[in-house]
Amino acid sequence: MSTIKPKSSIATMVSYTPNHGGAKKPGKVIRLSANEGALGMSPKALAAMHSADPDLHRYPALGASRLAEAVGRRNGIDPARIVFGCGSDELIQVLCLAYLEPGDEAIYTQYGFLVYPMATRIAGGVPVVAPDDEYTVSVDAILNAVTARTRMVFLANPNNPTGTYIPQEEVKRLRAGLRDDILLVLDAAYCEYVTKNDYDSGIEMVESHDNVVMLRTFSKLYGMAGLRLGWAYGPKEIAATLESIKQPFGVNSLAIAAGIAAVEDLAFQEAVLESNNKWLPWSVEKFTELGLEALPTVTNFLMLRFPETDGKTAEDARRFLAERNILVREMAGYGAPDTVRLSIGTGEEMRDVVDALADFLGKERPAS
Ligand SMILES: *Cc1c(COP(=O)(O)O)cnc(C)c1O
Repeated sequence: MSTIKPKSSIATMVSYTPNHGGAKKPGKVIRLSANEGALGMSPKALAAMHSADPDLHRYPALGASRLAEAVGRRNGIDPARIVFGCGSDELIQVLCLAYLEPGDEAIYTQYGFLVYPMATRIAGGVPVVAPDDEYTVSVDAILNAVTARTRMVFLANPNNPTGTYIPQEEVKRLRAGLRDDILLVLDAAYCEYVTKNDYDSGIEMVESHDNVVMLRTFSKLYGMAGLRLGWAYGPKEIAATLESIKQPFGVNSLAIAAGIAAVEDLAFQEAVLESNNKWLPWSVEKFTELGLEALPTVTNFLMLRFPETDGKTAEDARRFLAERNILVREMAGYGAPDTVRLSIGTGEEMRDVVDALADFLGKERPAS
């Protein structure tokens, strides 16, 4: 045994190893395991990356100010209060490092994003889980989980992996029910996909409070997961704190160049949404025809429930699909082993998935 031991707060940490399932065969892979946008990346963003080539021997621009201006313009928000990170994952960690003293509690939700409890532990804090209600975040359960040691609440809205959301009124009720010294982190990684009128990404909450931070990412709708780019929007003091402790060059030059072009490419963003708005309901309809239960979702992914019957379980399905190079996410780590999570790919990909699931279940392939 090594004499060098990690600090006690992380000793029990189960390492987060997203199982994207290896492809089984050479050839085309349908990767629906990580919620990445179906259409990949904007061609304009790709081109912008190529024109960044000559400057790659230089350190990236500090503060990524041109990107902040572009994101600020697109969202109608103050660029001076936007902080970029190496994915929003980095910002989750930096928030925990900045605001949790050892032993402080951070609340996350039952089927919440696993990065929250991990980042909490890394910072020396204690993650506290609030149960969901029917795979949906419960504001009452979060409020019930508050103790004198609570310093942060993480709310993914819409939530990953469930795909459900809570309306703006509920977020307001949550904020109103929390002490003022508890920081509310609204992770809106999938906000662009939501078409509900009673939803808000969190911009309004940030504008009207000094204790709310919103997180966004270029990994999903923008299809730039490999470039690692996310951002936080919050009160001036919090933005300054995050800026001062995060890695100065955590956001690389290619991500900055691509980010500016991507956020300005409205036509591409619309195409992504159009595709999702078409193939999400189509997929749900076909899954239902096959007798599978798709949990309600407002995002570009969904949880699909399988029977308990031997040979027909979620794990059996995941393996069967992997044999056909169709990768979906297993949910055992999230405590929902009877489901798999899959993202909505292109129409062609979704047809292949539906056909494969029909074969798996021994049913006729639905007409398309
Ligand atoms: C994918 C995801 C993120 C972030 O991702 P980055 O790639 O690190 O920007 C953050 N929160 C949730 C809920 C996500 O699903």
